[in-house]
Amino acid sequence: MRALSEVTRLAPYTPGKPIDELARETGIPAGDILKLASNESPLAANPAVIAAIQDALCDITRYPDGNGFRLKQKLSARCGLPIDRLTLGNGSNDLLVMIAQAFLCRGRNAVFSQYAFSVYASATVATGAEAREVPALAWGNDLEGLLDAIDDNTHVVFIANPNNPTGTWFDRPAFAAFLARVPAETIVVLDEAYIEYADDPALPNGLDYVDRHPNLIVCRSLCKAYGLAGLRVGYAASSAHIADILNRVRQPFNVNSLALAGACAALDDEAYLELGRHVNRHGLQQLHAGLTRLGLAWIPSRTNFVTVDFARPAGPIYEALLRQGIIVRPLAGYGMPNHLRISVGLPSENDRLLDALSRIVGAGDV
Ligand SMILES: *Cc1c(COP(=O)(O)O)cnc(C)c1O
Repeated sequence: MRALSEVTRLAPYTPGKPIDELARETGIPAGDILKLASNESPLAANPAVIAAIQDALCDITRYPDGNGFRLKQKLSARCGLPIDRLTLGNGSNDLLVMIAQAFLCRGRNAVFSQYAFSVYASATVATGAEAREVPALAWGNDLEGLLDAIDDNTHVVFIANPNNPTGTWFDRPAFAAFLARVPAETIVVLDEAYIEYADDPALPNGLDYVDRHPNLIVCRSLCKAYGLAGLRVGYAASSAHIADILNRVRQPFNVNSLALAGACAALDDEAYLELGRHVNRHGLQQLHAGLTRLGLAWIPSRTNFVTVDFARPAGPIYEALLRQGIIVRPLAGYGMPNHLRISVGLPSENDRLLDALSRIVGAGDV
């Protein structure tokens, strides 16, 4: 047995600590634990989605529609793109892996930023391709630096806007200038997992660029703003040619039947999405203001999380929060040992987090 040596050197993905795990470790009842670690929606599950899944349950003996026709039709109407330009994923994560499988191999490379979503590196390296990391600029994508790193063997550039785990973003002129300079043979993956939260007209909407740039793939997720993280649904918008290629590496039934049913119902419920965005907008302001009151620095964000700079190793603060039943996301694995990433919760949850932080930081005992 010999795995690719690049793969054995990869650090496994470290998800936010599950609630049940902390409950087992500390004896704190699961119901008292607050998880602000994985950028999930803080809202209760959408009743319309639950009802649609209950309706679909009787059909679980059948394979799902491998083409996801009904969901693609709904997405097509929303995106203004024909269904042959859409690809469905088991989360947008699945799409990132499919893109790597289809376009990368040993001898090729993929370019992405320092502090980028860790799946770009793992998906790249698993194909034997080189993962080429470009130093970040102010915690975000240095678009000029990314362009400079592209060479004849660069087949994919991954960029998230806004970026995870830092929350940073770039604007439309910057993106247009970037696209104009990327070689036509290099795929640009614009990962918009947080775009629904970025209510700032300065940010590009990737869908506005896919007609003019046949090398662009826009990846979106229904897991976060639509509240379907446990179901795993994402989609990619691209040229029909790229969609056809991705369809060849896609697992035949990658999106399961309950996820398809739930996603269709979620897309039909504009009010739930709006509520989530509203709660997030205020929650982000609440966290920003509270953190500032505590004298803590944070990276400005257009997402549903805020990344806090404690200006010293944040591990002990993470541990102290765990002891109070609050799970946030340490970023040492991303090379940011002084930072913690905190997802926006409901107003009372944000208060609880800020109270806990004020006790921990104020006590000066960590
Ligand atoms: C959460 C996230 C994803 C993955 O989303 P899923 O749809 O849950 O797979 C992709 N990219 C970024 C930047 C993310 O933060």
